[in-house]
Amino acid sequence: MLRRRKGLVAAGVLAIGGLAVGSAVYAVSPGFSDDRSAALAAAINPEKPRNVILIIGDGTDDSIITAARNYELGAAGRFALDELPFTGEMTTYGLKTGPGPKYPINYVSDSAPTASGWSTGKKTVDSRLSQGPSSALEVPGDDYETVLEKYKKLGKRTGDVSTAELTDATPAAAASHINARTCQGPELDMSSCPTAKKSAGGKGAISEQLVDNQVDVLLGGGKNRFTQNIEPQSGGGTVLNYAQTKHKYRTVEDKAGLSAITSLADGPVLGLFAPVNMTPRYKPLVATPAGKGGPDTRCETAERGNQPTLADMTDKAIKLLDNPAGFFLQVESAMVDKQEHSSDICGAIGDVLEMDNALKVAQAYQAAHPDTLIIVTGDHAHSTQIVPNGASATTDATGATGGKATTTLKTADGDPMTVAYSTQPPNDPNATPPISTSQSHTGSQIRVAASGPQAANVTGTIDQTDLFATLLGRTPSKLPSGPTTPPAAQPKPAVAVVADKTISAKSIRSRGLRISTSVAGATSVKVAITKSGRTVASKTLGRYGRTFRLKVTPKVSGTVKIVVTATGPGGRTTKTTSAVVKR
Ligand SMILES: [Mg+2]
Ligand SMILES: [Zn+2]
Repeated sequence: MLRRRKGLVAAGVLAIGGLAVGSAVYAVSPGFSDDRSAALAAAINPEKPRNVILIIGDGTDDSIITAARNYELGAAGRFALDELPFTGEMTTYGLKTGPGPKYPINYVSDSAPTASGWSTGKKTVDSRLSQGPSSALEVPGDDYETVLEKYKKLGKRTGDVSTAELTDATPAAAASHINARTCQGPELDMSSCPTAKKSAGGKGAISEQLVDNQVDVLLGGGKNRFTQNIEPQSGGGTVLNYAQTKHKYRTVEDKAGLSAITSLADGPVLGLFAPVNMTPRYKPLVATPAGKGGPDTRCETAERGNQPTLADMTDKAIKLLDNPAGFFLQVESAMVDKQEHSSDICGAIGDVLEMDNALKVAQAYQAAHPDTLIIVTGDHAHSTQIVPNGASATTDATGATGGKATTTLKTADGDPMTVAYSTQPPNDPNATPPISTSQSHTGSQIRVAASGPQAANVTGTIDQTDLFATLLGRTPSKLPSGPTTPPAAQPKPAVAVVADKTISAKSIRSRGLRISTSVAGATSVKVAITKSGRTVASKTLGRYGRTFRLKVTPKVSGTVKIVVTATGPGGRTTKTTSAVVKR
């Protein structure tokens, strides 16, 4: 075991030089024994990254990551995202609308202000995209420039990938500015955003803004937002037509089409692989009040037709964006959140795995291009909780012990795991009328992990808005070239000793001389009684000394010396006292 871990450390050191993916060096697998300080120190790189890949799991908090890990790998397993060298916690709170300038805190955010947080470095209100707070949803705030837009100005290529509609909040916040996230298409969706219409002098619907921003690679779902007609004043036709004619986008609709695109030389790429959201990895398994599933239930793989996976899209995006000036790519595994809303554990955990697979693609690129920063995080916490499962008076049919609705699955360990949803009343198709509810986001801080240049900035407890500066690259700090302060010299041991001043010759033979010694900073303590320089009795004590009696067998009389010698890392200390032995 120890030997194997040493091999992993060697692989990790190589990874620093860009020769191998060495994330395993950082793995805190159960039973790890070697100190990781040197490996972590070697992984700290203060340089600005050339490329930045941000991987988001919507609604992906530690609760759903743990559930997915238990299911896919077992409780002791580790995802690639678990093995990134630097991990921190991130607060995700937002604001509520109000008169300002101070806005009330919103402790449970939706995906619009959270994505706006890292995209712009500023907090905003629910439903709003890269635009500041205001008095009401319909009242636009100030537009805030995004990381993607700033990088574009610097001449870097940009990409935005999601398994949701491309116009959904997370991908939208990267490259659009609008008061309400629902305003996704120009023809059917603009009721909450009258001032954003191009005919009103605004920037248009989200789908229009994404293509007007000329993001080099746009891959995801949501074709229905791009087949909507633009306003007649803007020339008519669909957003798709507009993207192709005005901005020279090449559009693809399936895996084969995506494969056929091999460079950006002929224009940017707009891939729309589903009318709405893309299909999750697993078929839904929706929790019920009576308990769904059981100790033998496993998730079923969904039929995804010709849709590419998130890993496929990430791989293609990286290959297209790779260039000497660098790139910024945001990748979202969106359906974790949406399936949690539906109390669907299989849908959610399958897309945590999809996210991890996308990370592995990014890591393979990073191994060959070590000037690439990878950050993996969520946007807000969600509703899934892992609850007890076992025989008890209060269990449901699956053995679960709590929650408004539960599902039990057989994990990779072979054991049952139950998850519960309790933020809203459960779905109940048998009720009249049928109840269909959406579970709620929750307000906990979430994990953020990273590797590559400036990845160390995610450690500790940061705020979502702090990611903005990290994504842009901070001014490099200077690493110490050696210890900044010389190690303090170890002091010599401190020794105190007292002994009986007088004792009879008979008594020192039969009972012994009472000696009390107290020592600090020693690893060994020796006490000797000497007469005229000759040791007549001795004893080795523990490192702190103690009170004891030391017998002297040879006949002695007159003054004897009690010599305490303490030895420690700082050297040796000798303390002496004396006693008189009476005849
Ligand atoms: Mg999202
Ligand atoms: Zn959500």
